[in-house]
Order: sequence, then C-alpha cells, then structure tokens
Amino acid sequence: MKEKYDLIFCGGGLSTLIFLNKIISDNYFDDKSILVIEKNPNLIPKKTWSFWEKKDSYWNDFIIKSWDKIIFKSQNVLIERNLSNMNYKMIKSESFYNHIYDKVKRQPNIKINKGDVVDVHDQNDGVVVKTRNETFKAAKVLNSIPDDLYKTNLNFPVLLQHFVGWTIKTNKPVFDESKATLMDFSIDQKNETRFIYVLPTSKNEALVEFTLFSKELITNSEYESEIKKHLQSLGILDYDVKLKETGIIPMTCFPFDNANTKNLVNIGTAGGWTKPSSGYTFRFIDKYSDKLIDFIKSERSFKKFKLRNRFWFYDLLFIDVLYHKNHLGSILFENMFKKNSFKSIFRFLDNESSFIEELKIIGSFPKWIFIKSFFKNLPKIISNYL
Ligand SMILES: Cc1cc2nc3c(=O)[nH]c(=O)nc-3n(C[C@H](O)[C@H](O)[C@H](O)COP(=O)(O)OP(=O)(O)OC[C@H]3O[C@@H](n4cnc5c(N)ncnc54)[C@H](O)[C@@H]3O)c2cc1C
Repeated sequence: MKEKYDLIFCGGGLSTLIFLNKIISDNYFDDKSILVIEKNPNLIPKKTWSFWEKKDSYWNDFIIKSWDKIIFKSQNVLIERNLSNMNYKMIKSESFYNHIYDKVKRQPNIKINKGDVVDVHDQNDGVVVKTRNETFKAAKVLNSIPDDLYKTNLNFPVLLQHFVGWTIKTNKPVFDESKATLMDFSIDQKNETRFIYVLPTSKNEALVEFTLFSKELITNSEYESEIKKHLQSLGILDYDVKLKETGIIPMTCFPFDNANTKNLVNIGTAGGWTKPSSGYTFRFIDKYSDKLIDFIKSERSFKKFKLRNRFWFYDLLFIDVLYHKNHLGSILFENMFKKNSFKSIFRFLDNESSFIEELKIIGSFPKWIFIKSFFKNLPKIISNYL
C-alpha cells in the first residue's frame, strides 16, 4: 500500500479541475495532501463549454466569446431576445485545462498521477483506490469516473444528448457574431428531438453542432450530413472544418447520489451533476463544488450529500415524456420559449427559478401528458424524493 492522502480525486477532468481551482485559494486545504489519478493526464479533450451567467463572473478570464442575443427557432417560430444582465458564454477546454493544470502543478501538496483506476472501495476508516499497478488510500475520495449502473436501471429511463460539432471557417463574412442560436428545431425531426446549435465567434467562424436528445446514437456520417445540409440551407458552401468535437451526455434522473458512502462522493456527470433535461453541467459543477467544499469542512458523511430537490422531480417528468414521446421535443421547447421570458427559462434550467416562474413554465406544456406522467411516476417520486 502506498502512502495515505487526505483527498484523492479519481479522474482529472472538468469537475476535478473546477474543484481544485477553488481549493487552491482556500487555506483550509493548504496542509491537506491531495492526489489526482487521471488516465490521460497529457491529453486535453476537445470540448467547448457554453453556459449562461451574469455578465461579470469569475470565469470571465477564460471566456473566448460571449453573446447577449439568443435565438430559438422551430418550424413555427423564430424568437430572438436580449439577455439583459446575462450573457451566453463560451470556454475552450485547451486554455482552461492548461491554466488550471499549471496552477495545480505549482502546489507542493497536490500530486498528479497517471493511472487507470480499476476499483474504489470505502472501508469506513478511509477509501482504498486501486489502479492497474498501484494501490492508494485516502481519508476522502472525490470520484468523477462514470459508472455504468444507470444504464441498466430500468426505473429511470436514459436519453442521450449526443452531438457532433464542427468549428468552421469561411472566406466570406457569413455569420452575425452578436447572436447565438441556442436551438434550431426547424430541421427534419425524423420522429426524434433534433436541433442545430450555432455559436459564431466572428463573421467568418462558428461552432455548428447537430444535437439529438434520443435513445440511440446515429452514424458519424448522419451527424455530418445534417451539419452540411444546414450550412447549405444558410447558403454557406465554401468553408474549412478547423475542429471536430463529439459528445454523448446521459440525460437521466437516476439517483447517482445513492452511491455516495461515508468517505466517497461522486462528482461531475458521475455524481448526477448534469442537468437531466438539458445536459448542461459546467454551471452545476461550479455551484455544487462550493456546496461540497463546505460539506467537507463540516466533516459530515458524504451519504448526506444530497442534491435532489423539486427540480429533480420536474426533470423526472420531462425525461419520462421525452423518452416515451421523443417526437414531441420540438413542440415542448417551442412552447417553453414562446410563452416565457428567457430570464425565467434560464433560471428554471439553472434550478434557481421561483415557484411562480415554475408554474408558468410547467403551464406552457401540454397538461395531460405531464399529469399522466406524474401519476405514473408517483411511487418513484415518493421513494426517491419525498
Ligand atoms: C464535447 C462535449 C461538450 C460539452 N459541452 C458542454 C457545454 O457546452 N456546457 C455544459 O454545461 N456542459 C457541456 N458538456 C458536459 C460536461 O460539462 C462535460 O462532459 C464535463 O467534462 C463533465 O465533467 P466531469 O468531470 O464529470 O467529466 P470529465 O471531464 O469527462 O472527467 C472525467 C475524467 O476521468 C478520467 N477517467 C475516466 N476513466 C478513468 C479511469 N479508469 N482512471 C482514471 N481516470 C479516468 C477521464 O479521462 C476524464 O479526464 C460537454 C460534454 C462534452 C463531451
């Protein structure tokens, strides 16, 4: 057995980096020995993180582009609104990883170890972490390595948010860089929930993503042909693809926090910190890390680290409806964007809306489908939430 640490992070991706970035400037952690075990510490995944937030924020130094005008589009509507005190913001993984990893490497109390974690076991007096070649022990472990348990649990349907995004560069100025298209459902839905997402960073450059919320993945050529078709429909024929990124994000209300034990807590997507109905994760990692830091200081058992609230219940119904009636996605989002202010929608999707805002948003959806889903899910709601 190797030396014992105060904290081990299994996985060194976004949630670990955000967490480390916070605790580096928190002197409670100055004398704590910390180990990060990451399978590929020298490989930065190609990811573009976008999220809405108040204009001035901690992350502003990493923002490569922000927008205060947002577009929602479907077969029936085109809605364009200003975000007043908020911005939609974009961060690229490369500069983010480099900056935080460089900071972490300068900390004498934090070590980064390349390793493939194969087992994590809470023994009550600490947690044993095994990689293929080594064994470590820690008082507390924060794990962001996803476990597959949610995939086989039939109680909680799993939709996938899956996408391919191209960053393209054109010779001619074709984009309006002041506007981000959050969802464009005007494309062929093929009985599923499908939309295009366009984030222009200049008149000549944009991230164009084809996204589905559905049960099954499609072939790479299908994603790519949909992007090409969309660009063609915008009259964009002459472009270079500078970067390609892909993603598969689980959308489920599976109670990930039930797996937390006294000294082991799952964080990030593995901890259920991804918003089930939207796939957005960045802001939740930011918020929940603050909560978890306070929790660690209070020295309570991680079994009590619960994040489920009334928004979990809304997500449960939404995912249930979308899972069984996947073709309704475009209509559901259209109603939500048509009948509510963007401010209320964003607060709702951030789990920060008022009850009045929630009633208005829920009231914009077809009632019977959700009432039926409510009664169908009542036993689950009682046993997992109430
Ligand atoms: C392409 C892409 C774009 C996204 N865009 C957005 C966005 O715009 N907005 C938003 O809010 N969310 C977005 N998300 C969702 C979410 O923010 C990211 O998935 C985020 O990276 C989740 O952070 P995490 O720490 O949970 O997981 P990760 O960042 O994936 O970190 C997990 C880490 O564990 C490591 N690991 C895995 N197995 C092992 C093992 N056995 N041993 C050791 N290490 C291991 C991995 O290498 C990885 O580094 C996006 C996701 C993807 C994939």
